[in-house]
Amino acid sequence: LSDRLSGVFDRLTKQGALSEDDVKTALREVRVALLEADVSLPVARDFIKAVQEKATGQAVTKSITPGQQVVKIVHDELKHVLTGDEDPGALKIDNPPAPILMVGLQGGGKTTTTAKIAKRLKEREGKRVLMASLDVNRPAAMEQLQILGTQIGVDTLPIVKGEDPVAIAKRAKTQASLGGYDVYMLDTAGRLSIDEELMAQVEAVRDVANPRETLLVVDGLTGQDAVHTAENFDERIGITGVVLTRMDGDGRGGAALSMRAVTGKPIRFVGLGEKMDALETFEPDRIAGRILGMGDIVALVEKAQQTLEVEQAERMMKRFQKGMFNMNDLKMQLEQMMKMGGMEGMLAMMPGAQKMQKQMDGAGIDDRMLRQQIALINSMTKKERANPQILQASRKKRIAKGAGMEVSELNKLLKMQRQMGDMMKKMGKMGKGGMLKQAMK
Ligand code: GDP
Ligand code: MG
Repeated sequence: LSDRLSGVFDRLTKQGALSEDDVKTALREVRVALLEADVSLPVARDFIKAVQEKATGQAVTKSITPGQQVVKIVHDELKHVLTGDEDPGALKIDNPPAPILMVGLQGGGKTTTTAKIAKRLKEREGKRVLMASLDVNRPAAMEQLQILGTQIGVDTLPIVKGEDPVAIAKRAKTQASLGGYDVYMLDTAGRLSIDEELMAQVEAVRDVANPRETLLVVDGLTGQDAVHTAENFDERIGITGVVLTRMDGDGRGGAALSMRAVTGKPIRFVGLGEKMDALETFEPDRIAGRILGMGDIVALVEKAQQTLEVEQAERMMKRFQKGMFNMNDLKMQLEQMMKMGGMEGMLAMMPGAQKMQKQMDGAGIDDRMLRQQIALINSMTKKERANPQILQASRKKRIAKGAGMEVSELNKLLKMQRQMGDMMKKMGKMGKGGMLKQAMK
């Protein structure tokens, strides 16, 4: 199988694909963009390596530069790395009362974010939330949470002076159970930097509360330091997610990528201001664009790819009307089918194609089959693709072998090409460009 794949790959590079030099040049710029966006060096290095492997050999879209194309690949990869399986906004808060522990450095936005999340849970999910400040270090820290609570209509644990954080956590737990709360949130004291005494304190609180979620709140403007913080907290306390604050500022969000890469923990929310509703669930797409600072290029590349598809469709239309439909046409069709969600997606868009859909269903066409068919076509010479009627036994054998398949499979493909050719011709004449063109847009 891998031989077959690398064979396909070889042919691709020969046909206007991204060369290694193209990719290298473009990636040099991307590396600068990543570092400027505060992505940490080792993370940037690994990331570039992964993209380099993915990009080399990809077909270049007409009307954009190879560099722009690489940026698009980078953007998609960024999105991929930033997107986990999880739904970032869905906190695990079943089994009431569910404890949520908020941790992070001082001034990162823990207290503000605690209240923002409480408000969100109350308003969007109808949860009864109790908030408790465990910050016995900073004067007026407890009052700060209490004021926010009054403002958003969420209860706070009554303040008892002289209590230690573990005692407050225990009282919050009891109060949450007795009071019938769904969730209780523990807002811990911050620290200016990773500090053993305060770490031990958070650890003790974690052990009595046994939190369902431990959210690390970090300032999105602190860049590389944020990664270091995340690594430390995750190792010592074990976090379940990250909230990036101050993303309303001009930080470029590279910390998001680094933190995800280093801890493997999802970014859950993004803070976008001081107000209580300035909190959004994390959107990988947006941050990816922001990290690259190249949202416009990504849009341009997407547009160019669309334009190319329309141009291709129009060119094909003209050929179909003249009754021409060779293996190159079939290959393009097959590739488009894969893009549009397989045969069904494609045919659903074409008027009058239900009959063919039934035939195809009978043949059991799926993505794997599409890929095999494309491999067969790739295994043909230029001449054979343009004139499939010249295929006799020895050519057929060679082609099938090159794609690692049986001649019977190739015969099926040839039959399909003839049938589709007939149908395309009819449709082309019927609609004089109208219907099929519409269907292909
Ligand atoms: P803590 O020490 O971690 O509890 O941090 P605080 O919640 O007290 O926040 C410190 C400061 O940052 C406050 O002035 C907040 O209003 C501000 N802040 C918190 N989150 C955001 C945010 O997403 N954007 C902006 N612009 N300011 C924020
Ligand atoms: Mg605080």
